[in-house]
This record gives sequence, C-alpha cells and structure tokens, in this order.
Amino acid sequence: MPTDPTCIFCRIAKGEIPAEIVYRDEFCVAFLDVNPLAPGHLLVIPVDHYALVTQAPPAVIGALASVVPRLGAALMQTASAPAFNLLQNNGSDAGQVVQHVHFHLIPRRSGDGLGYRWNAGAYPQGAAREMGDSYRRFLQAGC
Ligand code: 5GP
Ligand code: ZN
Repeated sequence: MPTDPTCIFCRIAKGEIPAEIVYRDEFCVAFLDVNPLAPGHLLVIPVDHYALVTQAPPAVIGALASVVPRLGAALMQTASAPAFNLLQNNGSDAGQVVQHVHFHLIPRRSGDGLGYRWNAGAYPQGAAREMGDSYRRFLQAGC
C-alpha cells in the first residue's frame, strides 16, 4: 500500500490527524475541506498515496469516481446546493497544492460569487486533426 508519512492526506486517511470525515470505505475517504470555497466543500481521496491522477492505477481512480454520485447527492441535500463543481487539480501548475490525488466537490448556487474564467481558444485550420492524430498515436501505443 503506497503511503507517505509526510503527506497530510495520508495522515488524515490513517486517522493520525483530525478531519471531519463524512465517508470511508476500503479504498476512499471523504472529508470536509478545512478552508471551504463554500460550506460543505468536500474532498475525496484514495487511501493509498499517489501524487498525480496519472500515477494511480485505474482501479484506484475508478473507486474514487464511483463514490462521487453518492457524495454529490449528499452534498446537494446537506449543503442545500442545487449544483456542484467536481474539480481535480493535477500538478502544481494546475493549482494542486496537496500532492495526494483528490477530487473536490464544491457546492454551487446562483450568485455565489465563485467562478472561473476559461480563456477558450480555437484551432487553426488542420491543427485539430494533427492534435487528434498525436493523441491517437499515443493511446494506440498502449500508453
Ligand atoms: P489542491 O489545491 O491541492 O487541489 O487542494 C487542496 C485542498 O486541501 C485545499 O482546498 C485545502 O483547503 C485542503 N486542505 C489542505 N490541508 C488540509 C487539512 O489539513 N485538512 C483538510 N480537511 N483540508 C486540507
Ligand atoms: Zn498521501
């Protein structure tokens, strides 16, 4: 079982430091984010330590994802939120601060002032096909 004694989320999973745990099973632990973007903001983590989603076995990510519907339903009821964002920061350049894979479930409601801006771009002529070809080559190579 991969674990990192210096990792705050490993320590929460092991019960070594306190957290407001709302759900636990063999593979996952869900708890309140200590600095919520909105009341009821949840984090769900694998019990095992993997820094990045790309380093975790698919079954670990599958177990994590499989509890999201239940946690999301609980969040919408408990936090009286009609909506939520499911967010996964992967890598420090993407805003990941705690290097143990986690999904955020962030309660959302109209006018809550939370948000993000996607500066969406567009592909020049032919570039989407080239990009698609690169993806297909990588994925077909079994990586
Ligand atoms: P990241 O930016 O890595 O995606 O988000 C990490 C999240 O973990 C942050 O929202 C932060 O508030 C939360 N967090 C960091 N340390 C602790 C802690 O010790 N306990 C809990 N419950 N949440 C934490
Ligand atoms: Zn960890």
